[in-house]
Amino acid sequence: MPKFQIFTFMLQTLKTYFGYDSFRPLQEDIIRHLLNRKDALVLMPTGGGKSICYQLPALLSEGTAVVVSPLISLMKDQVEALCANGIPAGALNSTNDETANAALRRACMGGKLKLLYISPEKLLAEAGYLLRDMNISLFAIDEAHCISQWGHDFRPEYTQLGILHEQFPQVPIIALTATADKITRQDIVKQLHLHEPKVFISSFDRPNLSLTVKRGYQQKEKSRAILDFIHHHPNESGIIYCMSRSKTETVAQMLQKQGICATVYHAGLSPTQRDEAQDDFINDRVQVVCATIAFGMGIDKSNVRWVIHYNLPKSIESFYQEIGRAGRDGLPSDTLLFYSLGDLILLTKFAAESGQQGINLEKLNRMQQYAESDICRRRILLSYFGETMMHDCGNCDVCKNPPERFDGTIIVQKALSAIARTNQQIGISTLIDILRGTLSPEVSQKGYHQLKTFGAGRDIPPRDWQDYLLQMLQLGYFEIAYNENNHLKITASGSAVLFGKAIARLVVIRREEAASQRGHKRKVVNKELALDLPATESNDLFEVLRQLRKQLADQEALPAYIILSDKVLHLLSTARPTSIEEFGNISGIGEYKKKKYGKEFVEAIRKFME
Ligand code: ADP
Ligand code: ZN
Repeated sequence: MPKFQIFTFMLQTLKTYFGYDSFRPLQEDIIRHLLNRKDALVLMPTGGGKSICYQLPALLSEGTAVVVSPLISLMKDQVEALCANGIPAGALNSTNDETANAALRRACMGGKLKLLYISPEKLLAEAGYLLRDMNISLFAIDEAHCISQWGHDFRPEYTQLGILHEQFPQVPIIALTATADKITRQDIVKQLHLHEPKVFISSFDRPNLSLTVKRGYQQKEKSRAILDFIHHHPNESGIIYCMSRSKTETVAQMLQKQGICATVYHAGLSPTQRDEAQDDFINDRVQVVCATIAFGMGIDKSNVRWVIHYNLPKSIESFYQEIGRAGRDGLPSDTLLFYSLGDLILLTKFAAESGQQGINLEKLNRMQQYAESDICRRRILLSYFGETMMHDCGNCDVCKNPPERFDGTIIVQKALSAIARTNQQIGISTLIDILRGTLSPEVSQKGYHQLKTFGAGRDIPPRDWQDYLLQMLQLGYFEIAYNENNHLKITASGSAVLFGKAIARLVVIRREEAASQRGHKRKVVNKELALDLPATESNDLFEVLRQLRKQLADQEALPAYIILSDKVLHLLSTARPTSIEEFGNISGIGEYKKKKYGKEFVEAIRKFME
């Protein structure tokens, strides 16, 4: 077929099955490459549109595409999404019962499926059996970084996937991942024995995610800030990542007390409890999940609208992956990170005691630099992943509210002088007690209330002291002796400030209440920009359509976002189609969904308009 004809055909198929009018950057090249039966390695951020890179070639080729996926929940989600678009697909894994698997095997052998999802164990077990009896169009290895010990999610089963090219030399392989540094990338190519693969790397930027850091908050202030944040996201799904199981519990209880529907997810729950939590979240039965890092790996929920980090993550990789779970549908979504000295001390201890001390401390250090940044935060993130960004993003707290500095020499001198007068034998909390003039047990026991600096910083609230001390640490005025009860030690540059030989410039601390209001207004503007549509969206209509979607989803026992994505609902409540034909023209609605849901949605819109 001539080149342009293939392209027309590709576009038609994209429109018919997925309802989209154009390809995203790289998708077209990757699809062509696979159709030429060549191997590829694809690096795209979460939500970048990896699935279509192999789903479309699967539709355009004879036979069945075999997709290896590490998690059963991921497979389930993908298969549901495909079937909802009228594409025959199935998942072969250990949770199916024997009858279901037998039917699936027959469908595979009869060439009835366009895509078969399979766990790596099953794939290895079936390589000499079922797979031999199938006409395989391509292999797609999803989450390919799982193959590498360097990646953050190593799965031993993945390492044996190297046999695929030996046993099926004619079948092209596409490996896909959202996180892979150079070593991991090389490892994927090597272990899968990819044959002269073309590597496609798309930008890791996720411009729809807003980035905000709040520094030096204590528990009470965090709670208040979280409630305020959720108040600005009514009915919107979100995840709160916490460092410990017990923290997930206390945060969830705090939210429940305020009438917010929240649940927990951590490794201490039974598998059934965990599935239940995940299911409730996916199906919009709970709004918030308070989770340890274990959560989110297996879900494709496209309408997670926000992610909060209650604690500092241990590396930028983890952080980026976790915030990446928000806004997969491309709509504006908000992220918030709390950064406190306590977390930093604890994580430093973990890193120092870990097997790979050097690497882990360095990773933590980079995370800290992000949290402390006074330049555009997105620039820091992208440069970490080896990308340079030529402009500020306009969608992070630093861009929106550039930090102002002031001469903080006296504040720094008060703190350092208090440290010096205790012979550098105190940690952060005692230091704050001394500065604030608080007679804590340690203070009275050691006689620190007799020091000249006792109460010298009474005018500054404890929270602001936390913030200033973090700044001083970052500026290098003191260090924390992690091996000496976290006592504070004044550095040479600290001494220079203490003895008046240098001035210290600190960042002005802002009250967040005003900022969050402003941020909210801006978000609404962004929403329109992202959709590229005039500002005529009706919130009431959106709500009507959301209810209808929920009702249809419950009838079919499917997650709401599989029926129609949030983005499609926004487009519908803006464009307000009143005929099935117009309904089908909305981006994201293919032929199958047009026929299946058109009537009901069009009726709901008509009724609303009357
Ligand atoms: P990934 O697997 O990379 O995380 P997905 O494949 O789930 O991302 O795609 C993310 C979202 O983008 C999905 O809602 C998908 O339907 C949508 N999408 C993918 N390709 C396109 C396209 N060409 N045009 C519009 N939306 C797209
Ligand atoms: Zn920015």
